[in-house]
Amino acid sequence: MTTTLTSQPIAINIDGKKSAAKLLENTAQEVCQLKQQGITPCLAVVLVGDDAASHVYVRNKLRTAEQVGIKSIELRFDAQLTEARLLATIDELNNDPAVHGILVQLPLPQQINESAIVRAISPVKDVDGFHPQNAGGLVQGQRVITPCTPLGCLLLLQEYGGDLSGKHAVVIGRSNIVGKPMASLLLHAHCSVTTLHSRSRDAAQLARQADILIAAVGQPQMIDASWVKPGALVIDVGINRVTRPDGSTRLVGDVDYDSVSLVAKAITPVPGGVGPMTIACLMQNTVLAAELQLQQAAG
Ligand code: NDP
Repeated sequence: MTTTLTSQPIAINIDGKKSAAKLLENTAQEVCQLKQQGITPCLAVVLVGDDAASHVYVRNKLRTAEQVGIKSIELRFDAQLTEARLLATIDELNNDPAVHGILVQLPLPQQINESAIVRAISPVKDVDGFHPQNAGGLVQGQRVITPCTPLGCLLLLQEYGGDLSGKHAVVIGRSNIVGKPMASLLLHAHCSVTTLHSRSRDAAQLARQADILIAAVGQPQMIDASWVKPGALVIDVGINRVTRPDGSTRLVGDVDYDSVSLVAKAITPVPGGVGPMTIACLMQNTVLAAELQLQQAAG
């Protein structure tokens, strides 16, 4: 008799949709409480141009806002919009007391300076958490609005990894919207944090030391099992569209799910992992923004 050894996935599939649904339930309750105080949280979403992916993201955000009882306003502009006109729109939204959150969907057309737009949004309405005042506050551990994607990753890690204190977390990627705030959040959760980037030497060897591995690289399936310590928790932030041999397309992450699920303790799928948590955290941030403005008004 011959025995065939088969490799079975051992990793738990981290269900981002389920965790996001729970978070949205809580958010809906918080929205109800605010409404009882006479405040209807309102999110203004600004969309410039006709980038197909941006349209899909905005549609999902508006639909989710409606689901939890958050009022939303959509402001659409064509791709020729000037920076001055966009700044004037943001100024109006900043000064409108009925608007609690402002989200300008990125990327913006090249004639508009993204960083000028991010800085123009009032920090208490900055539901993306990208304003330098919020970014600095996060580093210092203040109660500020935190970027949605890394916040969603942290919530998944706490749900599936328990107490993170003392664990070694490796973040691959150092962007302002994912990698850097992720590293700050993990540091505040008492992890020992290593950040890797395109100039890192021996990246795979460093990643293999991680109890928690976060991939936010933007390279389809770059992280295979050789980057992962057995038993690690793996969070895949990447969203990459790849073309199949027959010409159709599909979404994949930065992690090679099939090989990594043979060694990791738990892993997020793409789609269905970090993505739903990002949107749920946006709703949480809109509620937080409304609360911060309420506190500000009360002096
Ligand atoms: P950026 O392109 O801004 O940053 C990518 C980072 O990866 C950079 O710091 C870069 O290093 C690093 N990097 C690139 N190649 C390598 C490599 N070979 N080895 C190590 N590091 C490398 O991307 P974002 O942070 O904005 O996004 C990352 C991914 O996450 C993308 O796929 C994006 O689509 C996805 N995303 C998903 C979201 C979600 O809701 N799930 C939300 C936001 C983003 P360097 O700084 O040296 O260039």
